[in-house]
Amino acid sequence: MTIAFKISEKTKEKMIKFFEDKRREKTPAYALFQADSEDTVVTLYESGKVVFQGISADIDADMWKQVEKKVNPSAIFDEPKEKKKDKETLDTKKFYRVSAIGSDEVGTGDYFGPIVVTAAYVAKENISFLEELGVKDSKKLTDDKILEIVPEIIKKIPYDTIILTNKEYNDTYSESMNMNKIKAVMHNKVLVNMTSKGYYTDYVIVDEFAKSFIYYNYLKGIPNVYRHITFMTKAEDKNLAVACASLISRFIFVKEMDKLSTSVGMHLPKGASDKVDLVGKEVITKFGEGKLKEIAKYNFKNTGKIKGLI
Ligand code: MN
Repeated sequence: MTIAFKISEKTKEKMIKFFEDKRREKTPAYALFQADSEDTVVTLYESGKVVFQGISADIDADMWKQVEKKVNPSAIFDEPKEKKKDKETLDTKKFYRVSAIGSDEVGTGDYFGPIVVTAAYVAKENISFLEELGVKDSKKLTDDKILEIVPEIIKKIPYDTIILTNKEYNDTYSESMNMNKIKAVMHNKVLVNMTSKGYYTDYVIVDEFAKSFIYYNYLKGIPNVYRHITFMTKAEDKNLAVACASLISRFIFVKEMDKLSTSVGMHLPKGASDKVDLVGKEVITKFGEGKLKEIAKYNFKNTGKIKGLI
C-alpha cells in the first residue's frame, strides 16, 4: 500500500525531528530523508510531498494527517468527489468476489438490548449461495426476513459472536472506556478468534467505525491484536462476509430483545427515541431503577429524560 500527500513546512520540521533516529543511510534523490517506522517506509521530499509505503502505511499516514490538520486546519487529503465515487464503485468490485472474514456490530445506538459483534467467514465458493438467499442488500432486509434467512446462513457460514449485556456495559463504561473502545475490543476478540482458524482469506474487513490508527490506539495494552484489517465504510454493501456478520448480529440482537421484552412483560423498542423513554418509565415504575440498569445503556441521555418523566 502506498499513500502520498503534501505537508506544510511546520509538519516537515516535526517529521524531520521525529524520524531523526530512524533515518536510512541512503536518501533517494530530491528527498530529505527516508526512514523506517515499524512496517512502513516513510520518504519525505524537499517539495513537501511525503510517501508512506508498506502494509500498515495507512496507519502512519493517518497519524501525520492529524499532525498536519493541527497546524493547518484547512488541509485536504481526500480525493475530489468524482474520484471518491469511482473509488466506491471500484471497492465494490474489488472486495466482492473474494474470500474474506468480515465483522460488524449491532446495538450500539439502542438504549435497550445488548451490543452484539460478529465476525463471519465467507469463502468465494459460498457467494452464490448467499446471493440466492438475498444477503446482498442486507441493510434493506426486515427483521422477519432476517429471522428466516440467518438460520440458513449459519448452516454454511462459520462465525463468532460476542454479546455484551447492558449490565456488563454499564459496569465497563467510563471516561477511558467509551463506546468506540468497547467496540474495538469486541471486534478484535472475534477477529483474533476467526483468523486463528486457518481459513484462506483475501481480506479481513471491518465496517469502519473509527479511523484505523484510532482503532489500534484503543487496543494498546491488549496482548493479542489482529492487525491486518481493511477498514471501509458501508462495508456490508461491498463484501458478503461483512453483510453476513451484520445479519447474524441483527438476528441475535432481535432474539435477545425478545427475551428481555418477555422478562419485563412489555415490548422494548429499538433505538433511542421518545418511545424508548416512555417504556423506560414503565420499567422503573413496575420494577424499580435496578431493573432499568440491567437492560438499558445507562449513560445514554434517555436515562435523564426517563427520570424527568417520573
Ligand atoms: Mn457497522
